[in-house]
Amino acid sequence: MRFIDIAFITPPDDFEERAAAAQADGVENIGKHSDVWRDCKPNLKQASFDKCYYCEMKDIRSDGTVDHYRPKSKYSWAAFRIDNFRFACTFCNSRRTDQKTGEIGGKGAGFPLYEGCERATCNEEIGNETPLLLDPCNAADPDALDYRADGVVVPASQEDANPQKIQALTSIEAYHLNHSDLQEARRRAAIEIQEKIIEAESFMKRFTGGDLTAKQPYTSAVRDLKRRLDQRTELSAFSKRVLQAYKNKPFVDQILATP
Ligand SMILES: [Zn+2]
Repeated sequence: MRFIDIAFITPPDDFEERAAAAQADGVENIGKHSDVWRDCKPNLKQASFDKCYYCEMKDIRSDGTVDHYRPKSKYSWAAFRIDNFRFACTFCNSRRTDQKTGEIGGKGAGFPLYEGCERATCNEEIGNETPLLLDPCNAADPDALDYRADGVVVPASQEDANPQKIQALTSIEAYHLNHSDLQEARRRAAIEIQEKIIEAESFMKRFTGGDLTAKQPYTSAVRDLKRRLDQRTELSAFSKRVLQAYKNKPFVDQILATP
């Protein structure tokens, strides 16, 4: 999960008018106006370079969905707010069973809150609400997740009393972030990154030792590693974590320091 800045999402031209009209049509008719959020999909996708906001994968088998972070069934007032829309793959958005493990995951219409929290009844009350689901559009939330090199997502905090740990655990389950296919994709990415680091280091040593023919392959290996961190690349938050394990190597530390 990476931070997606809502400020950079431009709604379609006629969005405000259509959203206001749809909202005014009443709670019972929300579903009739699904085109209002569906038509925002290209704008939402653009902000994440076509990746699901939750898992950072591009699902080439489907064109993804517009998820309501606060479900419209519980928050009818947020049904047509673009700041409530998230671009999501069907794995993260819908309840489904992992065929390999039998575990059920996917967000569905669930939206658990921190114990003792009142549900917000309008946008002005959002500040009083502590959702248990991490929000990729909240700058601090993606940092609540950490990644193991074997592809498993875990909470960044180990302290049971830390609300971020509870948020992380709830979100890992709700977004199905440890779906076996996703874990496998991360595990493979980690192996490729580790191999690329070894390759880069070997060419770097040859180059710094005076072998000028090693410069080009060293540059290419560094470029490949930098691409792994790019916001446009799948699983970039995970890749960053893999590289961080090697930051004692000055060239890796340099790659991590590049914006
Ligand atoms: Zn996803």
